[in-house]
Amino acid sequence: GPLLALRQLVKRYPTGDLALDHVDLDVPQGQVMALIGPSGAGKSTLIRCVNRLVQPSGGQILLNGQDLGALGRHGLRLARRQLGMIFQEYALVERLTVMENVLSGRLGYTSFWRSWTRRYPAQDIQQAYGFLARVGLAGFENKRADALSGGQRQRVGIARALMQAPVLLLVDEPTASLDPKTARQIMRLLCELCRERGLSAIVNIHDVALASQFADRIVGLRKGAIVYDGAPQGLDTTA
Ligand code: ADP
Ligand code: ADP
Repeated sequence: GPLLALRQLVKRYPTGDLALDHVDLDVPQGQVMALIGPSGAGKSTLIRCVNRLVQPSGGQILLNGQDLGALGRHGLRLARRQLGMIFQEYALVERLTVMENVLSGRLGYTSFWRSWTRRYPAQDIQQAYGFLARVGLAGFENKRADALSGGQRQRVGIARALMQAPVLLLVDEPTASLDPKTARQIMRLLCELCRERGLSAIVNIHDVALASQFADRIVGLRKGAIVYDGAPQGLDTTA
């Protein structure tokens, strides 16, 4: 079956907003799926339901057949380690070094904040050097996160997510805080890395042109429902 399957996924916020209205969606292994749609369409809610930062109101979220919605605390912690998160505002620990931020990915995103007290095995450090070189940050290991540009921070965010050895990347507006040129570089890097590693990604992105340039598949959301699902070539990016 697919890597990720959403079945009749519903999210109604306590305010009454129906953010996801019975969404059915399959994401196969190795696919970069861009999630587009106007503000308020439910894109962030969908991504946040998958890692259960948001608690779904109904339906199922199946990761390799396992229902994430039904997991308890411990099961959820294990399942989340398979989900690499990349955020619009990077979510780096600002006063720590690039290397420390990347290594913290080994523990999964729920542990970023505690991770600096850890000592990491030599092979993890070796691997982190490799990822940093791959994202174009060789030599930046000992710089503090707060000394980096936005594009560099997002490169650290990507390396940290890879460090987690995820099966699926959940990427929430990765380029929304970047200038257009840097945004294109980051989106290209992210999609290239997914292809190299056979990784799947759901990329929430409001820039339709960028989505259609780099993603394998475009899913359009509107008012919590899927209104487009197809190849980037079929999409009218001028609309
Ligand atoms: P998008 O990411 O596409 O902009 P969101 O998932 O943020 O969409 O929002 C979808 C809908 O859910 C909107 O109507 C929004 O106002 C509502 N919403 C999002 N987060 C919350 C929240 N924490 N509490 C109440 N309503 C929310
Ligand atoms: P995004 O579209 O990227 O989700 P927003 O600016 O819409 O960003 O939302 C920022 C934060 O406010 C998010 O945590 C979201 O869940 C929350 N939020 C959005 N809409 C509402 C709402 N109607 N009521 C309460 N919280 C909301």
